[in-house]
Amino acid sequence: MNKMSQTKTKQKPFATVQVDLDGLWTNLGYYGHEAPISPDPVFMSSIPRFIKLFDKYNIKATFFTIAKDLEDPEKAELIRQLHSSGHEIANHTYDHPFGFRSLPIEIQKNQIQKAHQLIKKTIGVDPVGFKAPGYDANAATINLLETLNYQYDSSVIPTWSYPLILKTYAFLTRTKSPSHGPKAIWGLAKNRIYSPNSKKEWKETVRERKIKEFPCTVAPIFRFPIHATFALKLGSPFIIPTLWLTKLLCQDINYEFHAADLSDTVDDKRLAHLKGHPVELRINRIETVLKILTRTHEIIPSKEYINQKSKNKQE
Ligand SMILES: [Zn+2]
Repeated sequence: MNKMSQTKTKQKPFATVQVDLDGLWTNLGYYGHEAPISPDPVFMSSIPRFIKLFDKYNIKATFFTIAKDLEDPEKAELIRQLHSSGHEIANHTYDHPFGFRSLPIEIQKNQIQKAHQLIKKTIGVDPVGFKAPGYDANAATINLLETLNYQYDSSVIPTWSYPLILKTYAFLTRTKSPSHGPKAIWGLAKNRIYSPNSKKEWKETVRERKIKEFPCTVAPIFRFPIHATFALKLGSPFIIPTLWLTKLLCQDINYEFHAADLSDTVDDKRLAHLKGHPVELRINRIETVLKILTRTHEIIPSKEYINQKSKNKQE
């Protein structure tokens, strides 16, 4: 075995870490309540914690930013801080409209472009990644992103169980059941990056496309969600074996967080889903995940991962 193939054998699988910056007003919007973009304890308290924690584990992540937040100078400053710390800033629409894939394509375009311009104005760099609000995109959205020179979409969660979990959760907490979001058929999508079919976003096409679907990773084989918001509710015994299983299968991971995972506790009756564990316990559980992830995988920003994969395909 020559030296190069030895290095290749030792290469850990890659992991990317994505954070959806859904602040207080966005979470209220999910339940149909209107709220101003500030004050926003979810956004303002979580970002410094993400910076601190990611610095500790030397992680460069991708932050999906809702551009309306950039109209607030203090929020814009935090996004600039993320950018100057080496994190990627990606597009999470202008004002996070729910039911995104049902919107006319012109409105989707306007949401993406308006956000793009505001992000560019704030950090001086063009975003290349997009995530729809509430995992709610379709093939038309992805085709649109391609015409806008985007490199990847991360709206798909490839499991049949998530729509069911969301509905059960809404039933148990007596909150609104989502009328939009992930499709059960996404359980048939690849649990890794792929070139999406131009008519069915969950289907891989043999033709190599410039735009990639980069789904939120679910558990190998069993296909249940493993992202942080889910893992925080269920605790480490659930997440640890899953992460080691991905390592064993040499599978890359796209691991997702939401701002509320590290925010101050929100005591608002309208937001039952944010009434989680005390922040110290959440930090502790997230650190457990990050410790394993840094041991099992090489963590890089999504943009870098996409470039790496495209380069490998060309070789
Ligand atoms: Zn969101």
